[in-house]
Amino acid sequence: MSGPTTTVAGVTVDTRHWIGGARRASAGTFTDMSPIDGTALGEIARGTPVEAEAAVAAAKEAFPGWAATPRTERARVLRAVADGVEKRIEELAVVETADNGALLRSHRRAVMPRVAHNFRFFADRLLSLEHEDFATRGHTNHVSWDPAGPCVLITPWNAPLMLATWKVAPALAAGNTVILKPAEWSPLTASLLADIAAGAGLPAGVLNVVQGYGSEIGPTLTGHPDVRRISFTGSVRTGRSVAASAATHLTPVSLELGGKSPLLVFADADPDLAAELAVEQYDNAGQVCLAATRLLVEETVVEEFTRRFTAKAARLRQGDPRDDTTDIGPTIHPRQLAAVDGFVERALAAGARTVVGGHRRGERYYAPTLLTDVAQDSEIVQEEIFGPVLTLQTFTDEDEAVRLADDTRFGLAATLVTGDPERARRVTARLVAGTVWVNCFYVRDLRAPFGGARHSGVGREGGNWSFDFYCDLKNTVTGP
Ligand code: NAD
Repeated sequence: MSGPTTTVAGVTVDTRHWIGGARRASAGTFTDMSPIDGTALGEIARGTPVEAEAAVAAAKEAFPGWAATPRTERARVLRAVADGVEKRIEELAVVETADNGALLRSHRRAVMPRVAHNFRFFADRLLSLEHEDFATRGHTNHVSWDPAGPCVLITPWNAPLMLATWKVAPALAAGNTVILKPAEWSPLTASLLADIAAGAGLPAGVLNVVQGYGSEIGPTLTGHPDVRRISFTGSVRTGRSVAASAATHLTPVSLELGGKSPLLVFADADPDLAAELAVEQYDNAGQVCLAATRLLVEETVVEEFTRRFTAKAARLRQGDPRDDTTDIGPTIHPRQLAAVDGFVERALAAGARTVVGGHRRGERYYAPTLLTDVAQDSEIVQEEIFGPVLTLQTFTDEDEAVRLADDTRFGLAATLVTGDPERARRVTARLVAGTVWVNCFYVRDLRAPFGGARHSGVGREGGNWSFDFYCDLKNTVTGP
């Protein structure tokens, strides 16, 4: 099994790092397991600070050349990467599903096309980025977007390649070089991306991929004096330690962290839409940062809502994510399953009542679950669970709805279901959230900012906000 490559669903994946345009092994490896059935997918290079240092050195060396590459050429290479992704959508989809257990049909139809789009979108955006000029008392102020330098990009397992390319594409477009550290529970598609980028003509050292445990190589990357930006997506706990490490050299950080978003259903809502949007929160077995896991429903319609929700939830098919008829796949890892189970057990012990689910299904799956009779200050209402577990609470008026929705340390997103646009406007204005969806969920234009307030993160990415982050803005003032 251990060797420089492994074969997953018929696709050959190099299990080594990609540093300075070459594959590089580590003395140790770790076993990558499929969440679908626990089979070993490969022995992956277990990076150490030595490889992390080498990746930063490669990124530093490649930086001047890539930064000086004309925008049109950088955009051309990024579009070639997008083409490369498109040619391999099927392979990327099957490998990602084997690795993280999310639905194959959504990897095929939505996620991998979006990965390609991430590259194309930021290539286009780069070409339309305006250099501004301002005149003051006969002096010209010329504002330019200079690339910042080597960027460390650290990503989680729940949407591995989508989230990685959401960072890699703008960082490269801006003229930076990159060290990508994928999550150890889903390391494979990052390795395929390195192959695709090399095939597209991205110069050596511009994109580097270091595999391994975050605790073992993360601090070397995030505390490195030659690293100019750190973009991290993951848990609040790790985000805090990334921020602390980044503070050593005052390296700017962008943090996309957890959530515990509310879904507010008002009595004037379309009842079918409300139930439909609520059931959607089980997508990816609830392992979605944006999931609206706290259902807040106006008391007068809670019975009808619960009836419709329960009927829809009963129709969900849980099973092998490679099967086209499956709606909900496995939990990423037995450890995560145990954590989800623990949350539910403790909630039940504290007096919660099960409306739907509330139990494991074997060793890898957790049944879609809805709990009610939960206290606002309880763990189940306040902590991110990252599994298919929702809570149901009621409110009597708009003030109470807002108070409950806002009583959280997170601020990533919120979803409102209401037939009254005036109410939607009022409530939205009072909520603290990076994204608010009204009568919809998940759809988002890449030109819009994305990020969270409070413990859900620091900064915004998307559109020009990504370039704001990945560039050093410079004002050149020229006298008369
Ligand atoms: P995690 O924090 O455990 O790991 C994320 C990444 O950080 C992994 O690559 C890991 O190896 C690395 N890491 C671990 N320790 C590190 C350290 N000391 N220094 C540097 N890197 C280190 O998170 P996870 O369990 O992989 O992902 C789930 C979390 O991610 C959830 O909280 C979820 O809400 C969040 N998430 C947020 C968004 C968003 O956009 N806001 C998107 C997806 C997931």
